[in-house]
Amino acid sequence: MIPIHFKNPEVNTVESLYCRLGLTKKGEGEQDDLRKKPKAVDGWCKANLIIDGKAYSFPEIIKADFSILTRIRQEIDDKNLVMPDDLKNYMVNTLYEIRFPRKEFVDALEVTVCPYCNRNFVNSTYDKTMCDLDHFYEKSEYPVLAISFYNLIPVCHYCNHTKGTKKITYSSHDGRFKTDGLLTFDFHIKGADFLYDKQQLGIEIYDTKEIESNIDILKLRELYQIHTDVVQECIKKAMMFEPGYLNYLINEYKDLFASKGELYRIVFGNYYDEGSYGKRPLSKMTSDILRDLMMICYSMDLRNVSDK
Ligand SMILES: [Zn+2]
Repeated sequence: MIPIHFKNPEVNTVESLYCRLGLTKKGEGEQDDLRKKPKAVDGWCKANLIIDGKAYSFPEIIKADFSILTRIRQEIDDKNLVMPDDLKNYMVNTLYEIRFPRKEFVDALEVTVCPYCNRNFVNSTYDKTMCDLDHFYEKSEYPVLAISFYNLIPVCHYCNHTKGTKKITYSSHDGRFKTDGLLTFDFHIKGADFLYDKQQLGIEIYDTKEIESNIDILKLRELYQIHTDVVQECIKKAMMFEPGYLNYLINEYKDLFASKGELYRIVFGNYYDEGSYGKRPLSKMTSDILRDLMMICYSMDLRNVSDK
């Protein structure tokens, strides 16, 4: 549900990741996999993957952005293209499993929280990354896309395991959509004691058709029900921090915060700016619910305040 981006300048970042694959190394023998196999994959790509009269090379497929990958996937489906087994094994078992620079890739995306569920941290230690990489277009079905940077999404183990080989419709590399246009969180009250009993609250997700299958396949509606305690806290925060009190805090502690937005982030306990949802778990849910509550209670629009 959260878009991901390569560090700027994006072209340089992608190029540097490509160099890490070592496909351009010179000097090995002609029989060596380092030279022979990439050449064979390149030949297969150029012979089969032709879109609008352009034949795509192997390096171009590795670096292709999401919109091109979508067209390549369509071409593979339309023509029922099947890669020879030896090339498929090379793509998946050698290039992806052994040679792919996982940590550098995740670091280049600056991903902090799983972009599929926005619940779990996906982090790296100094020498390796602890998250899973999801192939948006499944590697067993589309082995030629096994190391395409825009086909790989760092996700938590739960999301990777639950998705498995199933198809979802929204990729976090798809730049056409923003999170707030894809889904909205809300809550409902089941009983009068909801301020003291979190079981008396329920969480709803209103989705659009673009992300519907993600929500269903990853079972996000069911998963989010364990977070009613966080919703309960949002309700209490909205009751406590009315605009007059927020202004008092801003004036009283003006030297402590870089901006009004920073104080709001600390008071409300999370990022609430769309561009920052990927920084902390549950930020999309808490942002939607707090925006609604502050608007309903005080006609206060949190969208007017950046949390930077
Ligand atoms: Zn996840």
